[in-house]
Amino acid sequence: MEWSEPVFSGVWRDDTRYPQVTHIERVARSEGESGDWPDWVAPPLVERLVARGITEPWSHQVTAADLARSGRDVIIATGTASGKSLAFVMPAVEAIDAGGTVLYVSPTKALAHDQLRWISDLEIPEVRAAVYDGDTPAEDRRWVREHATYVLTNPDMLHHGMLPRHGAWSCFLRRLKYVVVDEAHHYRGVFGSHVALILRRLRRICARYRSEPTFVLASATSGSPGESASRLTGADVIAVTKDGSPRPAMSVALVEPELTDLVGEHGAPIRRTAPSQAAEMLADLVHEGMRTLVFVRSRQGAEVVALGAQRILHDRGEPDLAERVAAYRGGYLASERRELEEALRTGVLLGLASTNALELGVDISGLDAVLITGWPGTRASLWQQAGRAGRGGGDALAAFIARDDPLDTYLAHHPAAIFGRSVEATVLDPENPHILDPHLCAAAQEVPVTRSDFALFGPSTEERLDTLVRKRMLRRRPRGWFWTSNERASDLADIRGAGGSRVQIVDTASGQLLGEIDEAASHGTVHPGAVYLHQGETFLVDDLDFDEGVALVHAEDPPYSTWARDTTDITVRRTLRSQTWPSGAVVHFGEVQVVQQVVGYLKRDVRTGSVLGEQPLDLPERVLDTRAVWWTLPADAEQRLRGQDVPLLGSAHAAEHAAIGLLPLLATCDRWDIGGVSTSVHGDTGKLTVFVYDGYEGGAGFAERGYTAARDWLVATRGAIADCECEQGCPSCIQSPKCGNGNEPLDKAGALRLLDAVLEEGGECPQDVDGP
Ligand SMILES: [Zn+2]
Ligand SMILES: [Zn+2]
Repeated sequence: MEWSEPVFSGVWRDDTRYPQVTHIERVARSEGESGDWPDWVAPPLVERLVARGITEPWSHQVTAADLARSGRDVIIATGTASGKSLAFVMPAVEAIDAGGTVLYVSPTKALAHDQLRWISDLEIPEVRAAVYDGDTPAEDRRWVREHATYVLTNPDMLHHGMLPRHGAWSCFLRRLKYVVVDEAHHYRGVFGSHVALILRRLRRICARYRSEPTFVLASATSGSPGESASRLTGADVIAVTKDGSPRPAMSVALVEPELTDLVGEHGAPIRRTAPSQAAEMLADLVHEGMRTLVFVRSRQGAEVVALGAQRILHDRGEPDLAERVAAYRGGYLASERRELEEALRTGVLLGLASTNALELGVDISGLDAVLITGWPGTRASLWQQAGRAGRGGGDALAAFIARDDPLDTYLAHHPAAIFGRSVEATVLDPENPHILDPHLCAAAQEVPVTRSDFALFGPSTEERLDTLVRKRMLRRRPRGWFWTSNERASDLADIRGAGGSRVQIVDTASGQLLGEIDEAASHGTVHPGAVYLHQGETFLVDDLDFDEGVALVHAEDPPYSTWARDTTDITVRRTLRSQTWPSGAVVHFGEVQVVQQVVGYLKRDVRTGSVLGEQPLDLPERVLDTRAVWWTLPADAEQRLRGQDVPLLGSAHAAEHAAIGLLPLLATCDRWDIGGVSTSVHGDTGKLTVFVYDGYEGGAGFAERGYTAARDWLVATRGAIADCECEQGCPSCIQSPKCGNGNEPLDKAGALRLLDAVLEEGGECPQDVDGP
């Protein structure tokens, strides 16, 4: 307390120095609550743990371990470094002692190897732990299958290797007692939906071998962990959320960089960038002798922060301190990386700016301060990053520095969204037919699908199986649905991809492959004439060939940037659910078809942002069948707003942009995962309508979450627009970097009036609710 408080006051509470601080939250120290070793844990394990410094378990570890041992599927959702592994290792070791086996699944190979070390270091003879992933040598695989009792793998290996070849694993599967799903919050969106189906396939295969393993999930804290875990596993999962581990007191500042005199699109004011703000704060912290880690979104950003802080320290006549600041660029050798981490830990280095490459599996902790530039996506990530601060039980300092987008603006002004009860849910949708279909095929190849599997794969299973039979992918026989092809059915699902084809970007001069993007995204970024940036170098696109899946580019640095313009049409295919609000506004959720076409691009002067000209383009339409949430304005409110000269289209468009920006507050998605359309009169609703849709075939669960949390979402959307001090709209509120319409028309004041009309508590209640 005594050392950080004055520094803290000096650094962040001097109003003349940081007027940008919008809020300071003091998170109290927690002493922690320990428990007794459960009496079923064998003494040798306790001895090993005690020898490693774990003298007694925390209460949440005991609660979760007891639940798992009693056969309850459980998720343990507690803070960073709260020792979640111990909770599943206790029952796992006991089960192995009794002749059982354990399967551990993690999203990354690196994490599986970390866990392997942890387990192996316990040196319990019966626990024969081994990693089984794509890198496991062929000659070792057989040993793992036949002799390992604790197998560590990832969803990819389960999907392509273990499940299709379950016969070779029969001995292991027959004795399987626990399935541990670590870092479960990583399984979200399309990837999460794939993993949900892989886990269902695993449960089905286990049933075939007459084992019924208990699922133990570990996750960062989230909105409704029990619900998310149940959706991920298809089982009824109970959540343990009361964290019994101690944590240091922490002060967390929220920072919103100020508007500058610079102007951007349509004369909008530009904020000082988050990295520039971070550089200044880093220089001040380093000056105070505080070991500080700065998390930045990009490598270039990390360089900007480090160079900026060095320059400030030089200018202040502190060149020695400037030398103790560095950027962590990634791509280092393991030894270089450890050296850098060690330098920071020991204080040789005082300031380090890094991308979140440090986030998973690497142990840098015990720092004085952490700066986080830009919202890291989820509250879990924020706390994971902030949790690096807190040295030797001393007070820790963290700051979140907002970038100029609506979500960051909102958070900088609504601390409760960060420090209060979490509303952020890990979202996934295993019923998406585009994801379900290939997994039903894979399941049928593993063991023919029967009616008894319907409950596992969801209510649409029979309909999907019929469709697959019509498409001649499966055959129906008296004993079930069969996969009869010689192909590997698991190849049908690309579990880490967005689905769809890819386009390669090739430099014609050198023949070098610069990168690869989804075909869907290629229309807007590598159309003919587009300026394409690659690692700081500028290229011009000569040709985009969808048949060959290639975009040809050459190095050139024109004095302009390019911005694609597109047209988007959306058609309602089926309304699945609706809710009518007191204002008469109706919110819907359902299936839509989105037809998008890039029709041209604008050239903008790089320095001034002024438009130099517009070029038409002739690219094919793209059709996306997906799911959307949409809301309509009641006719009387529309008339009223018209009477008050509120420009409806610009207002709806502005509200749409901000709503897209704010959805990640409630669903674990990125604004790039979703799209939107707004019209003053839509053909299918006959009313002013704003749509927000999932940017993936069949949907990914984000729009559905928008529907279930619609009121919170639109209230937050209104808040983000109102909180931004700009007058006409700027990137922090209603302008969007991905607008296909060049951010026109947009009306900030009108958007507030429109959202007020939608959110109004009074008003008449109309009867027009469509859909079943
Ligand atoms: Zn603004
Ligand atoms: Zn737009």
